[in-house]
Amino acid sequence: MQATETIEPEDENKHSAKKKKKKKEKSKKKKIATESMEENHPLTIGQELIFTISIYQANKPSKLLQEFQLLGSQNLTDLRDALYCRMDFTAHGDRQGRQPEGQIINTIRQKLSASFFYIGNTFYVDERNKMTDDDDDDDPSQSIRQWIVERSTTTNPPEKKAMNCLSFSQLSLELNHPYLFYHQQNCQHIVMIRDIRLLGARDELNRSRYPVTTYSWRYTRYKCTMCAVYPAVYVTTNDYLSGFSPCYFCDRCYGPFHFDSNGNPVSKFDVHPYHGS
Ligand SMILES: [Zn+2]
Ligand SMILES: [Zn+2]
Repeated sequence: MQATETIEPEDENKHSAKKKKKKKEKSKKKKIATESMEENHPLTIGQELIFTISIYQANKPSKLLQEFQLLGSQNLTDLRDALYCRMDFTAHGDRQGRQPEGQIINTIRQKLSASFFYIGNTFYVDERNKMTDDDDDDDPSQSIRQWIVERSTTTNPPEKKAMNCLSFSQLSLELNHPYLFYHQQNCQHIVMIRDIRLLGARDELNRSRYPVTTYSWRYTRYKCTMCAVYPAVYVTTNDYLSGFSPCYFCDRCYGPFHFDSNGNPVSKFDVHPYHGS
């Protein structure tokens, strides 16, 4: 009886091993299938435009954040989704209405939080997350457009269009001219078109792999100086008790270190939110 008892699980193991093998083969086949699906979208050399686009850092406009190659048939939402700025993921920026319990709307592949590009005299607003046609609450360009109209005597007020209404080849663009990308309430990036040319033999020839990222800045985010465990969310200066300036604090250490049980500060210091550098 004992023997059978011990054999059975072994058989089961063998069976599950077979199953695993089958599963592996299946996933291999699936992988090959997706690869061949990707290969079903080959691009023809000399018949597609390639746009090289640079995005600069929010607080250091002289420093590159990312650089991409996009196809002339792609549009600004493809660029918006490819863009990675940490502000889209910190301080609940990835959630609907920036509320802690809100639905997640920003992922690495798609970013639906309110944003716009300002190109020429037009605000290209991301409307993919718009609930109704009358919903202008999520249009960060509205107050700026209104401000321009109220204060300027121009006969050419700024226009508003949907971010995905025109492809890059339909947009009127100037090389090396600073345009603006705005998102997460006040995070602003300079955007420049560095180059426009025809697709060549050395370019990526698979349509589904665009936008191609050719440069990406590596972020640094310090841990809390006190516990050295959690990522810092505050940075203090002139904080004599800490012994460092600047000094980094996580959410858990910041309160107990700086305030007494009644919530009064125990010393003088300057503090700013910290998202990394
Ligand atoms: Zn940003
Ligand atoms: Zn800490």
